[in-house]
Amino acid sequence: MAVANQKGGVGKTTTAINLGAALAEMGSKVLLVDIDPQGNATSGVGIAKSDITHDIYEVLIDEAPLAPAIKHTSRTGLDIVPATLQLAGAEVELTTQIARETRLKGGLAPVLGDYDYVLIDCPPSLGQLAINGFTASDQILIPVQSEYYALEGLGQLLQTIDLVRKHFNPDLDILGVLMTMFDARTNLSAQVVSEVQQHFANKVFKTVIPRATRLAEAPSFGESIIDYDSSSRGAKAYRELAKEVVRRYGD
Ligand code: ADP
Ligand code: MG
Repeated sequence: MAVANQKGGVGKTTTAINLGAALAEMGSKVLLVDIDPQGNATSGVGIAKSDITHDIYEVLIDEAPLAPAIKHTSRTGLDIVPATLQLAGAEVELTTQIARETRLKGGLAPVLGDYDYVLIDCPPSLGQLAINGFTASDQILIPVQSEYYALEGLGQLLQTIDLVRKHFNPDLDILGVLMTMFDARTNLSAQVVSEVQQHFANKVFKTVIPRATRLAEAPSFGESIIDYDSSSRGAKAYRELAKEVVRRYGD
């Protein structure tokens, strides 16, 4: 599953980490794949730069095997393929390579049997890295911030998804649109949610992720919200989302 939206700061990484941890808590084996050069998912699950010997860049550019790059995290059942800043070069380097769109798919193929879910944390762009994410996925989860201009850019995202479907991955679907950073104290958040529901109807997840300080704090401790503050609102919301995701995959 790709977690994608070309806007930055909408909650992609927060969702990839915490949905992953919530699924792992339910007993699933989950692989997070960080394809954002910023490496926020990598640091957010507690992997230090100094501990990384292989990363996703080598898989995408050198076609190195992916398995040696997998790292366990402190959350049982949650593994990650880390990204480092060298991935920034991949966006340009991929444009001159053969079969560039399927590099991630090819890298993941040998390990798919080891996991129930693979969550790909996409970068805030619609370039070669995101296209690799979409080509390797059967579902896309789109986090949307409950703020002004929530719908802005989503048309372009849907177009890119259509292009990938047409050329590389006919089975690609949108699993759902997730409203994030919902602020119950403002009318604005509620208005934005209903506007997004008008556009995406039942594609919008029933679970809404609240704006919660604990969610923003957790990554600096290298922990998911499930481990950082298990009884917090954010942890409860991501557990709810995990259940909804499991149900939607079953449908
Ligand atoms: P993206 O990956 O889309 O760029 P992030 O998940 O990194 O977005 O979130 C952007 C910032 O907002 C981060 O600092 C993150 O900790 C914070 N954040 C994300 N979700 C929430 C939330 N529900 N409540 C409060 N802060 C959040
Ligand atoms: Mg991110």
